[in-house]
Amino acid sequence: MNPNLYTELATGFPGDPAAPCMILPDGRVWTYNDVERASARMAGMIVALGLKPGDRVAAQVEKTPEALVLYLASLRAGTVFLPLNPAYQRHELEHFLKDATPGLFVCRPQVRVLADELAVLAGVAHVLELDDAGRGSLIDAAAPYADEFATVPREKNDLAAILYTSGTTGRSKGAMLSHGNLAHNARTLHEYWRFQPADVLLHMLPTFHVHGLFVACHTALLNGSAMFFEPKFDAARAMKLLPESTVMMGVPTYYVRLLLDPAFGRETCCTMRLFISGSAPLLKETFDEFKARTGHTILERYGMTEGGMFTSNPYDGERRGGTVGFPLPGTTIRIVGAGGTAVKTGAIGAIQVKGENVFLGYWGMPEKTLEEFTADGFFKTGDMGSWDAEFYITISGRSKDLVITGGLNVYPKEIEELIDALPGVAESAVIGLPHPDFGEAVTAVVVRQKNAAGKALTEAGIIAAVKDQLANFKVPKWVYLVDDLPRNAMGKVQKNLLRQEYSPMPKR
Ligand code: AMP
Repeated sequence: MNPNLYTELATGFPGDPAAPCMILPDGRVWTYNDVERASARMAGMIVALGLKPGDRVAAQVEKTPEALVLYLASLRAGTVFLPLNPAYQRHELEHFLKDATPGLFVCRPQVRVLADELAVLAGVAHVLELDDAGRGSLIDAAAPYADEFATVPREKNDLAAILYTSGTTGRSKGAMLSHGNLAHNARTLHEYWRFQPADVLLHMLPTFHVHGLFVACHTALLNGSAMFFEPKFDAARAMKLLPESTVMMGVPTYYVRLLLDPAFGRETCCTMRLFISGSAPLLKETFDEFKARTGHTILERYGMTEGGMFTSNPYDGERRGGTVGFPLPGTTIRIVGAGGTAVKTGAIGAIQVKGENVFLGYWGMPEKTLEEFTADGFFKTGDMGSWDAEFYITISGRSKDLVITGGLNVYPKEIEELIDALPGVAESAVIGLPHPDFGEAVTAVVVRQKNAAGKALTEAGIIAAVKDQLANFKVPKWVYLVDDLPRNAMGKVQKNLLRQEYSPMPKR
């Protein structure tokens, strides 16, 4: 079989061409047959524009069925898809276009002038438009092409996509993912999470990121499933659609927001088989409350742009809150200490991974790529974590978020968990800020609950409450009370922004 990822995904398309693939908010349905024909036309157009296998197709568009079809068309044409967050501004876009030099850039009509200007700077030959209703010159240009297209043969190691990492430290890097990487992860997750013939996926994630584009779409397509394809997360819409769905994938914030609705409960979830969470840590309280309210145990998994999913809580066995489960089949994980030796049970170390799903390297950055892999081929994820006695993995945060104070390591998660458990605290983020004596000072940014206990919180009170439970060097030197933490589109707390906001000397 042609190792092109599209060919792999299409093995799961239903025999009945009228089977629904995407169900839209207005009730319109894209059948699998529609998807095959539209992606054929678009692939035909990409080839006719003169793009060759391996050339890049960049897209900065809203989430629509046509945007997903563009991704599939790019796979079919053998080109390399480069999805870009619509929130990216001129400066970021210029970097991505100059770095990846796509042959085609699909943009939103409202940024056409900028797109044309940047296309000249970056030498992009073609610019087409796609709007948030799925219309535009992209669709018009594809219309004359044939409804059938012979998917271009690709090898396992040929590139299928480049996804830029969020670049919270330094320059954003393009992770090169091959057809083999993506197909391996898609098959593994499809099997591990036991996709079933009648599954219906509630898809509310963005499609410029590994979670929404690969994890969610690939498993559904490989299963020939229908997706409720919603432009974004909306708790009220989710309440409406959950009783017709069987699987939901979300970032922790989605689950937190669902729980805010008093009507959310067992009845809403009566048809559901599986709730999956990832991309950011799911608080144990959310996990517990979700179980109490719905009877469902959220399955938490862990992964990243550079390789899709690495670990998952089990489908059948115990799903343990606060952990990300076990290495997935085909993924080897080791957790190492400073000298590169494996840590003992319970000890925190650096997480390294190896497997067919692990990316090929960073686009145009061979030296950076070399730095991020060990001599024996493990990728250094940059995440810290530990094993428990039953080999469940717990993530303690990014290594760059580690606070080093007076030469001693402080893992933010340990302090955050203590603070989160205090009455009146909704959540917290612990960061290190420059300090003249200690190098870095442990600093807690604490979100108050919107109730009397939240109002009663004080900075000194929080310090006093955790003091007895922590070694002195771990006790926050500074505490800030806030209403919200800055989060990116995937629900990750942006600690870099917090460090920026409160550095160089904390505001008092
Ligand atoms: P991204 O490449 O945007 O998907 O971000 C990947 C990063 O998100 C990982 O390296 C982790 O730091 C974090 N992450 C993903 N899933 C989880 C999880 N279940 N728990 C904690 N952190 C997670």
